[in-house]
Amino acid sequence: MTHPIQAVKPMLRALLNVLFPVFCPICGRSIPDSEFLCTHCITTLPPIPKNYCLTCGTSTQGTVSECGTCLYEIGLPERVYFAFLYLEPLSKLIVRYKFHDRSEWAEPLADLLMERIGDLMHREDLEMVVPVPLHPLRLLWRGYNQAALLAGMLAKKLHRPFVTNALHRSKMTRPQTKLNQKARLINVQDAFVAKKATFADRTILLVDDVFTTGSTVWAATRALKDAGARRVVVCCLARVDY
Ligand SMILES: [Zn+2]
Ligand SMILES: [Zn+2]
Repeated sequence: MTHPIQAVKPMLRALLNVLFPVFCPICGRSIPDSEFLCTHCITTLPPIPKNYCLTCGTSTQGTVSECGTCLYEIGLPERVYFAFLYLEPLSKLIVRYKFHDRSEWAEPLADLLMERIGDLMHREDLEMVVPVPLHPLRLLWRGYNQAALLAGMLAKKLHRPFVTNALHRSKMTRPQTKLNQKARLINVQDAFVAKKATFADRTILLVDDVFTTGSTVWAATRALKDAGARRVVVCCLARVDY
């Protein structure tokens, strides 16, 4: 027999929706409080192109899984996964999530990511989930690390330990946004340190929110590999389209 509270739940939910309406953050339409986006806006999120280099994200021809450059690079992640392209309307949502105190969006954004690429993540033999860390001073300034919130949600959904105390940002770097690719690489060089005891011989899911040129996740990957990591799989919510 169902509990009486179950029977009135739909009514309570409808009443709460009237008292505290929830709106789609993209178009502003009223939506059920269990949803994040309206059914229309979900279909407008920019999917990732079918063929791209699984190490750096550059579009490739046909079924090639690694571009010519990455084939000969060492110390790169074994795989890079993206759920979406960093285009509107998603890019606007991510900016609000990151800079306008919308930390509560970490869970619905992680849900969107899992809907798109959860199957691929489950197929990887992951042992732990690690976010790209912020420098402590920047964390203090911003109040939260958007990559860590997202990574925490992914760890929960993938049932893997969430590790935040073993990969650190040791160098305060300039924001990457105004730098070109070469300057970005130099800027984050040796910016991370990783604990051997935690990462030696492990397969790690490294999480960031946005992948631009890859220089940040590659620098973090190098630190993990220097600490002995066996495989580094990178997962980002969105990749900048270039
Ligand atoms: Zn909408
Ligand atoms: Zn590549």
